[in-house]
Amino acid sequence: MAERRVAVAELGEPAYRADQLSRHYFGRFTDSPQDMTDVPAAVRERLAQALLPRLLTAAKELSCDGGMTRKTLWRAADGAYVESVLMRYPGRVTMCVSSQAGCGMACPFCATGQAGLTRNLSTAEIVTQVVSGAAALARGEVAGGRGRVSNVVFMGMGEPLANYASVLAAIRRLTDPVPAGLGISRRSVTVSTVGLVPAIERLAGEGLSVRLAVSLHAPDDGLRDELVPVNRRWKVAEVLDAAWAYAAATGRRVSIEYAMIRDVNDQPWRADLLAGLLAGRLAHVNLIPLNPTPGSRWTASDPVVAAEFEARLAGRGIPVTVRDTRGREIDGACGQLAAAGRELDPPG
Ligand code: SAH
Repeated sequence: MAERRVAVAELGEPAYRADQLSRHYFGRFTDSPQDMTDVPAAVRERLAQALLPRLLTAAKELSCDGGMTRKTLWRAADGAYVESVLMRYPGRVTMCVSSQAGCGMACPFCATGQAGLTRNLSTAEIVTQVVSGAAALARGEVAGGRGRVSNVVFMGMGEPLANYASVLAAIRRLTDPVPAGLGISRRSVTVSTVGLVPAIERLAGEGLSVRLAVSLHAPDDGLRDELVPVNRRWKVAEVLDAAWAYAAATGRRVSIEYAMIRDVNDQPWRADLLAGLLAGRLAHVNLIPLNPTPGSRWTASDPVVAAEFEARLAGRGIPVTVRDTRGREIDGACGQLAAAGRELDPPG
């Protein structure tokens, strides 16, 4: 807010114009000068351009599930592509956002991981993905009628904790009340990470109470070194220690993400090993049937095998759910975001 007031003052306008623009953006989800009827027409354009420049342009929009799931492909000013996904459920709407263009974590089963990292997104580039979803909902453009964004998950492209400062500032903009932010509940924001231990520890100290999700995918270092290469730096035990410290600091159950990959990580003994690691901890397991990505040798676990894995965890008292695969047909499900915008660019 303070920065916006300075920017407004530099344009020779009274400081309260910053609040007016923030209210338009965070309260009414608009960055269009013609909507800002409480600002003198002569300065609207200049103010909107200076304070609310269009950072991302929708290059493509795809929907499925009867319009309840919408994926947007965004093109940034420098030509980088990112994607976000809106998912409407009974009683809530979740926006899955990207924190980086591409990703440097190189997980071999994830489409985003294959192309490498292009760059970090800025705070405003992250926030605008959510504001655009909020705008579509407020205008009644999403099947199911008018609505609001209730949840945000950093499970789109990128490793959010590798873009720490921008992601943290984005969380504040998303959760501060209007006009400073969108007023989404902190408890409804989830940061998902491969397990960057120092960053998890830092996040625990922010006093934010956002939900932490750890992409574990294997209970043993041998396999996790392969599936989540950053495990070579921070081992399963270290990642889980950081997760339990996060749970202790925030009082929030940590979500353990586990993509079920056929004959790779879905053996009964691995379920038992995982249960042993999580027993008595403030944790919840999210089993995600692998979404096969082009060129990958891996596929989803057999449903019978997955059910057995789930039952073994549940039998040991570990809370466990199976994640849906929303958006699969539009390549909008977990790990499928690969910014297919490439196909929009002329060859060469
Ligand atoms: N970099 C962060 C967030 C992005 S991915 C992280 O790794 O947590 C969000 C979730 O989708 C992660 O748990 C990730 O491991 C999972 N995922 C990636 N590719 C997948 C695929 N092909 N099928 C199912 N889940 C996948």
